[in-house]
Amino acid sequence: MNVFATRKLPEEVVEKLEQYVRYKEWHSAEQPMTKEQLLEAVKDAEGIISVLSDPLDAEVLAAAPNLKVISQLAVGFNNIDVEEATKRGIRVTNTPDVLTNATADLTFALLLAAARKLSAASQEVREGNWQSWSLLQLAGKELSGATIGILGFGRIGQAVARRAKGFDMDVIYWNRSKKPEAEQTIGATYHELEDVLKQADFLVIMLPFAPELKYLIGKEELALMKSDAILVNTARGGLVDEQALYEALKNGRLGAAGLDVFEQEPVPTDHPLLTLPNVEVAPHIGSSTIATRMEMADLTVRNLLAVLQNKEPETPVN
Ligand code: NAP
Repeated sequence: MNVFATRKLPEEVVEKLEQYVRYKEWHSAEQPMTKEQLLEAVKDAEGIISVLSDPLDAEVLAAAPNLKVISQLAVGFNNIDVEEATKRGIRVTNTPDVLTNATADLTFALLLAAARKLSAASQEVREGNWQSWSLLQLAGKELSGATIGILGFGRIGQAVARRAKGFDMDVIYWNRSKKPEAEQTIGATYHELEDVLKQADFLVIMLPFAPELKYLIGKEELALMKSDAILVNTARGGLVDEQALYEALKNGRLGAAGLDVFEQEPVPTDHPLLTLPNVEVAPHIGSSTIATRMEMADLTVRNLLAVLQNKEPETPVN
């Protein structure tokens, strides 16, 4: 069986794969493949290990006539044409659950960083602008007693809610389906989207990307929010209209933002959002702890091998 990975993987993962398959991988751990390189590389592949920047669309799937499985090294899979894969009898798998806690942690890290102006504080110390103690120096926003609104109350959304409870926050959420069990165990309440936007002191977006959710948060939605609210997006860039977010932040219609994801990744260094002091950013590292990334890699390999051995994968998408 020929397996191709679109990123260079750690040695121990490769060793595991090589016990079972003829393995090839892209030479870089960071640099993505172009579409042309992908089209060429997948020609004889029966299995692909993919990441979220690989455009696995109908054209790429058509270029891989022997393909049986796409094992995505991520929980989100909006880079894959799952409908087309299903039509072609190709199984798609992902890595849910194993990254839930790490991603919820990073979400909270960005939320706290934005609330307490951590980048500006760090800069002040490093640049020698720390003069003395002053009453309202870098005064931030309190979490305790504040309302956190979570859009998308699935695995990670609920893990964020559990963390919020530890900070004595009130948790409200919006999701396409209500989650009565989680409401009970966590102590959260469901509200319509508009109400969540109006009530939230902190808004966390934890939805998957889908075309119908593009720019879910745009100019009108931002206008409903409190002017000192903090928006955190660790889900997917396309869920928020970045131009509208920039204008709201610049014009004082929104307090601050914490962003791990962008519509274009890597985000261009001249992006207007990066000029704002009230924006905390990270390079899409939601799940990036050593333990979680190794678990994700393990699960990706187990899913891939299961399909190639005609068994049911642990975490199928289709
Ligand atoms: P999940 O458990 O599937 O949760 C997603 C939630 O969104 C579900 O509760 C789902 O509702 C809801 N939802 C889906 N489509 C919706 C729609 N059209 N309208 C309203 N609600 C909708 O997924 P997860 O594991 O929490 O991950 C969520 C997303 O986080 C991923 O898809 C990925 O894009 C992102 N993520 C980012 C990072 C990072 O590194 N920054 C890391 C991991 C994940 P139902 O329960 O009714 O299906």
